[in-house]
Amino acid sequence: MSDSTEDFSTFFKPPTKPTLKFDDAVRFFKGVAPKARCTTCNSKTWEIPISDNDDSLCLLQDSGMTRTGEQVYNLYIECRNCGWIRGHRVGAIQQWLSTNPKDQIQEQQEDDE
Ligand SMILES: [Zn+2]
Repeated sequence: MSDSTEDFSTFFKPPTKPTLKFDDAVRFFKGVAPKARCTTCNSKTWEIPISDNDDSLCLLQDSGMTRTGEQVYNLYIECRNCGWIRGHRVGAIQQWLSTNPKDQIQEQQEDDE
């Protein structure tokens, strides 16, 4: 009985919207590019947008594109100083997070130069 239900659900595969925790996004940005500066104004303060529905999650945007049948989502963060927007594929962020588990990352002190 369960087999037929599974077949049905895979055939009518609903679009799956990924979720990304705000804390994980911060961990990603600190891990990947802790000193990333805005290419326009050289500021290093960035704003990560929060989901309207859940403030523990990031706001992800549908890119309108699919890759291997999956909808591709982007996370756009913006420079707090000049508003320049930079975008990252959510899949790449999730990939990084899965290969860099939290307990293996050493907390790095921010340089306040
Ligand atoms: Zn800027």
